[in-house]
Amino acid sequence: MRTDYKIVIIGAGMAGLAMAARLKLSGETSFVVLEKADSIGGTWRDNTYPGAACDVQSHLYWFSFGEQPDWSRVYATQPEILHNIELFAEHHHLHEDIRFGTEVTTASWREEDRTWVVRTGTGSEITAEVLVTAWGQLNQPSYGEMEGRETFTGLSVHTARWPEDLDLTGKRVACVGSGASAVQLVPAIAGQTEHLTVFQRSPNYLLPRMDRALGDEERQDLLNDPAGYTSLRDSLYHERDRWADGLSLDSNPVRDEFQQISLNHLEQQVPDPELRERLRPTYEFGCKRVLITDDYYPALLRDNVDLVDTAVERIEPEGVRTADGRLHEVDVIAYATGFKSLLVAGGVEIAGRGGRSLRDAWQQGPEAYLGTTVSGFPNMFMLYGPNTNLGHHSILFMVESQIDYAVRAIEALAEHSAAAFDVRPEVMAEHNDRLQEQLTRTAFAGSCTSWYKTPMGKIVNNWPGSIEDYRQATKDFTVADYEILRTP
Ligand code: NAP
Repeated sequence: MRTDYKIVIIGAGMAGLAMAARLKLSGETSFVVLEKADSIGGTWRDNTYPGAACDVQSHLYWFSFGEQPDWSRVYATQPEILHNIELFAEHHHLHEDIRFGTEVTTASWREEDRTWVVRTGTGSEITAEVLVTAWGQLNQPSYGEMEGRETFTGLSVHTARWPEDLDLTGKRVACVGSGASAVQLVPAIAGQTEHLTVFQRSPNYLLPRMDRALGDEERQDLLNDPAGYTSLRDSLYHERDRWADGLSLDSNPVRDEFQQISLNHLEQQVPDPELRERLRPTYEFGCKRVLITDDYYPALLRDNVDLVDTAVERIEPEGVRTADGRLHEVDVIAYATGFKSLLVAGGVEIAGRGGRSLRDAWQQGPEAYLGTTVSGFPNMFMLYGPNTNLGHHSILFMVESQIDYAVRAIEALAEHSAAAFDVRPEVMAEHNDRLQEQLTRTAFAGSCTSWYKTPMGKIVNNWPGSIEDYRQATKDFTVADYEILRTP
């Protein structure tokens, strides 16, 4: 073979592992997974904060191929998800294909022999015909650019870097942020802390979760009846995919119903009208991620918990100073302040045809064709790439469609005696024009700030429609959309 491997996959999170498993199942053995950490699991390895769980029902939160997990709850918690990822890797014998402790620093397209040259932090070089990026979108913690953070004399922790066995008993704790991670963290730690202050910059829409443990019999029945398991998955899938209509900017029955359920949830769980108003979002439903929780509002009602909605001005040695001049003295600051979106190349310098960097190609914001391929970067397939995030469903279905698309493309290389496929610029541009036009009608284009948008307001993370729309769009690998590069 002219390269070290046919395929290099960057990242051993769920997407990278699923790509590897799918390749193996299709009979492809010439691939390697490069993982910078020492273990698998990506986001589910990193997010170990108390209360960490999935906000999509367990039975939807898995790939459709291979064995389905024996979930213990309607909404699985982080340890169970990570455990199932480990079982998946064992089942497909993936550990033998992963190089741990291998951070990719650059990946460059070498035009002369149509090869990707991947360099790692240790200076080694790996060549491949195909590059698959599976580094996720959210794994570099953001601390909200908080002034004075380093001056704090207590303990600072981020939800995505939670210290093992951190004991908050008797501690005065600040939780900065009130997003997806915070609404899980706050109820989980409120009972432990002496006092917990939650710093909210903007409130979120919350929906009831209705989580419960699954009984032994129920679990056994599902395991004994694969058709029943599939039918449960299918019905949850279709029910949830209809929620995509709820993320429209304009009023429609689905959106109006969800917004009403959310406002009723607030009404029912927060009796104090003054607190309720502070928790009421003032932007369009779905503009930020809608959060699913039953115990966040009740946690805020506890005697030892306060909600502060005055802006954080800076961090000082003793605690958090808010814009009204008040110093909130604490022992621990928990930053639930989210992530720097990694769409801009995940820390890897990628250079395509003519040495053009991906960073340069994406100056106006990340763009791809079907969220997967980028013009000028032949044979590069991005998993969870631009505009493939969802506000209503399990991201794993999007990733699985991308994996299928990439596998079909790899198979098409041989069928067309091609060395590489490079998506035609006009095909990618037309796709993105249509996408951006559709996105103007979604709630993501509303008046809130969110990580879905660039500072210029372009929505680069989210898909505008249903998963079915995406599945249809990606079901065929259309060679005519691509320039075929031959081996020189
Ligand atoms: P996030 O949703 O971006 O929330 C960050 C929070 O920090 C927001 O409340 C934000 O306020 C606040 N914040 C940021 N900078 C601040 C500052 N300088 N001062 C005060 N507040 C500040 O981050 P996340 O909660 O970690 O979630 C990120 C994404 O991860 C989610 O959207 C979701 O996709 C994923 N996630 C999923 C799950 C799950 O259950 N599957 C769980 C956790 C996370 P503003 O809203 O005003 O910006």
